[in-house]
Amino acid sequence: MEESARSANVKDASVYPVPKHYAEQSLLNEEQYLEMYRRSIEDNEDFWREQGQRLDWIKPFTKVKDTSFEKDDLHIRWYEDGTLNVSANCLDRHLAEHADTTAILWVGDEPGQSREISYRELHREVCQFANGLKSLGVKKGDVVTIYLPMIPQAAVAMLACARIGAMHSVVFAGFSPEALAGRMDDGHSRIVITANAGKRGGRSVVLKENVDRAIELCRETTVEKAVVVNYTDDRVNMVAGRDVDYATLVSEQSEDCPPEEMGAEDPLFILYTSGSTGKPKGVLHTSGGYLTYASLTHEYVFDYRRGERFWCAADIGWVTGHSYIIYGPLANGATTVMYEGVPNYPDVTRVASIIDEHQIDVLYIAPTAIRALMAEGDKPTAGADLSSLRLLGTVGEPINPEAWRWYHDHFGRGQCPIVDTWWQTETGAALLTPLPGATALKPGSATRPFFGIRPALVDNEGHLLEGASEGNLVLLDSWPGQMRTVFGDHQRFIDTYFSTFQGMYFTGDGARRDEDGYYWITGRVDDVLNVSGHRMGTAELESALVAHPAVAEAAVVGYPHDIKGQGIYIYVTLNSDQQPSEAMQRILRDWLRSEIGPIATPDVIQWAPGLPKTRSGKIMRRILRKIAADEVDQLGDISTLADPGVVAELIARHEALA
Ligand code: ATP
Ligand code: MG
Repeated sequence: MEESARSANVKDASVYPVPKHYAEQSLLNEEQYLEMYRRSIEDNEDFWREQGQRLDWIKPFTKVKDTSFEKDDLHIRWYEDGTLNVSANCLDRHLAEHADTTAILWVGDEPGQSREISYRELHREVCQFANGLKSLGVKKGDVVTIYLPMIPQAAVAMLACARIGAMHSVVFAGFSPEALAGRMDDGHSRIVITANAGKRGGRSVVLKENVDRAIELCRETTVEKAVVVNYTDDRVNMVAGRDVDYATLVSEQSEDCPPEEMGAEDPLFILYTSGSTGKPKGVLHTSGGYLTYASLTHEYVFDYRRGERFWCAADIGWVTGHSYIIYGPLANGATTVMYEGVPNYPDVTRVASIIDEHQIDVLYIAPTAIRALMAEGDKPTAGADLSSLRLLGTVGEPINPEAWRWYHDHFGRGQCPIVDTWWQTETGAALLTPLPGATALKPGSATRPFFGIRPALVDNEGHLLEGASEGNLVLLDSWPGQMRTVFGDHQRFIDTYFSTFQGMYFTGDGARRDEDGYYWITGRVDDVLNVSGHRMGTAELESALVAHPAVAEAAVVGYPHDIKGQGIYIYVTLNSDQQPSEAMQRILRDWLRSEIGPIATPDVIQWAPGLPKTRSGKIMRRILRKIAADEVDQLGDISTLADPGVVAELIARHEALA
């Protein structure tokens, strides 16, 4: 079985070498990566001392690193005696030479709308809004909730918080009042920044109404101020004494706001995880280490050069948006693209047309979006030029080799490398990733560790596995971008990440390491199937299914099975031009048997018009497991689902199967 389960990847064992021009022109070639990586591990502290110089410090640090992963002595401190201000590093220090460079290229929901904001302009508005927040009584250490659509004021609000030393807690603007209230309560946040409404995919999203409702729902905190960006023409109810108009507030403020001097270990923000596996965790990141790591990875992973237009198509409500729309790019003086809309509005050619219209150099997007576009065949890139693109990236889930190749061929025209970056809200920025000039690519593999990162695989008893092997993915040492605690619940931090394996950070993900030392994420360890004693990662089975031409998307879960221990239950979404049928069931069953082996023969195939996904587009297998196991009364927290309606539909179809 071990052999047969690997056959799907053997077939995908194609290697894409570093393109010649990349090897010659990149920041690093392979040899240089290996040398710098070796140094980053062997002279770890010196390496990070040097990297800390990327930032402007008010008081330079003398201590670099003081960390321990032992659960009885857990501590993580980087650059702890240095002081700095994150917003000054993202804005002020670029003004002398690059004030007129575009900091944010904003692209609106409707085609044709866009706006360029220079570093000078961004700096001015951040200072004014920071003064505005102070005038409302916000102080260093306060938690400010940001519930904004993808408009420039979202960046302004985050940086204004950083400027005065308040922690922001960005909540994705697609969340319900209940989810928003839960996060405001958890952070004891007394102020929220919102808009009257947002626009997404041609529709108006009510935000202020959600905020009003959320404020009523709060139990642990009293929200005293709501700042409202009156972005659309919609009129909303403004509560006297509580609600403040953003534009009026800003216009009354001075453009001078000296940045607050912050300790390197002072908190920068709280951000809740996607909630794929349960109740979201309030991940807390601090200032000096986080920014060093976000900026370093942005430069090397994307081989970034000043002047390029960098498009990370995430939402600022996710860590990807924090690190690669805001902090990493702005710390590096980059031009960051901020897109308000969705990839398929007004139609599936939108992503390609934005790239052509704005001559985008780098596109970084989630596998879920790639699969959705792939289901439309050649349409998403038909007629597009795309020659401005130099590099592609993905993040968020394992990318199926089939989707990787489609992305490579269609958006990359066979010429752009793809950086498949594995990381978590907890890790702050990318940990496993190719570097475009240094790493030969294998579709579906996040390849090798970034500088200073020590990944390892362990068995369930915590024994280190050597060489080519498969197991639990852990990290043996700290890096500056690591989270420091779960906000308000340090015990949960220790329990979740440092209690499973002694002295190691446990990621919760499973991975395989091949003979070249490349890592392949097999999925979350909770999702691993155990069929007749054989362990199988969900990523592998799903990749094989998506490789079938009729399949748009698939999710695989285990369910209790009398004989096998676990049976294989598969949810399949077919491409738009396909019909479910018994014949199709047989075809897919045979397909899995031939692609992976008889052990992978599915017990149940259920047609799924859609799959339950988090708001950031990840499949929530936890819910699918409950449905498959007839435990629909135990679905748990589904507040982070994008479309709860999908669940009822899947339950109905499951019951019809029985
Ligand atoms: P929660 O922790 O609340 O369940 P979540 O894990 O989905 O939510 P995130 O921090 O947004 O929250 O996601 C990190 C996870 O996403 C990783 O642990 C991994 O499972 C998956 N992931 C991210 N990038 C990749 C990638 N390039 N390849 C494979 N998996 C990835
Ligand atoms: Mg997680």
